[in-house]
Amino acid sequence: MPQNRMIEDNYRQRGLRNKLVKIIRQKGISDERVLAAIAKMPRHVFFDDALLTHAYEDKAFPIGEGQTISQPYTVAFQTQLLTVKQGDKVLEVGTGSGYQACILMELGAKVYTIEYNKKLFEQTKSFLPRIGYSPFFFYGDGSKGLPSKAPFDKILVTAGAPVIPDALTEQLKDNGVLVIPVGGRDRQSMIRITKSTGKLVKEEFDYFAFVPLLGKVVGKKIHRVTT
Ligand code: SAM
Repeated sequence: MPQNRMIEDNYRQRGLRNKLVKIIRQKGISDERVLAAIAKMPRHVFFDDALLTHAYEDKAFPIGEGQTISQPYTVAFQTQLLTVKQGDKVLEVGTGSGYQACILMELGAKVYTIEYNKKLFEQTKSFLPRIGYSPFFFYGDGSKGLPSKAPFDKILVTAGAPVIPDALTEQLKDNGVLVIPVGGRDRQSMIRITKSTGKLVKEEFDYFAFVPLLGKVVGKKIHRVTT
């Protein structure tokens, strides 16, 4: 995390971002609001100096503590699935670098973000306001959700879960949406759960590879779901 570097965003970086958006669009992202948020967000400011030249590659990169900033395509894919509307109350599980939280805020969400790793929590909590983003930061095990602030319109999990945590579906509002990668250590399916008059409707999308969701994940492998 670039705690002391001057934060600048020049024409070269904007050009690289436009190229990145083109790549993501070619891969199938079509939500113009999501693409505009990626085009606007200076991803390089989330990178340490040693990795700076890689900031606009469509790849995940280390952010310390064994964790990563997600691949831009993955961020765009999850954000598109979440169908964020202006004013939505959104819980993000896995703050990490804070990049995804900023993208959600660009879409007009009121963001609550929770991080399990103390060092990343502290770093990101002090860094994001410096670049103009102040979501509500929480430290703890997000697989339990955030009961004190629930319910949420949308919940986004940015680490791979072995099962769908019960706490997260319980903390969704009616018509609320949960997007979560679920599966084994090596790969997970992207799952979207929509709560519809109390019932959970499940949709399954492509495979992705996330770092694992840590903590005490309590849920069912085959969740109560109607399709
Ligand atoms: N959203 C992040 C970003 O934009 O940089 C990327 C997140 S990284 C792929 C996954 C993050 O989830 C890591 O920072 C990790 O420490 C965090 N994490 C893992 N398990 C968690 C849990 N149970 N609760 C909260 N955060 C968790």
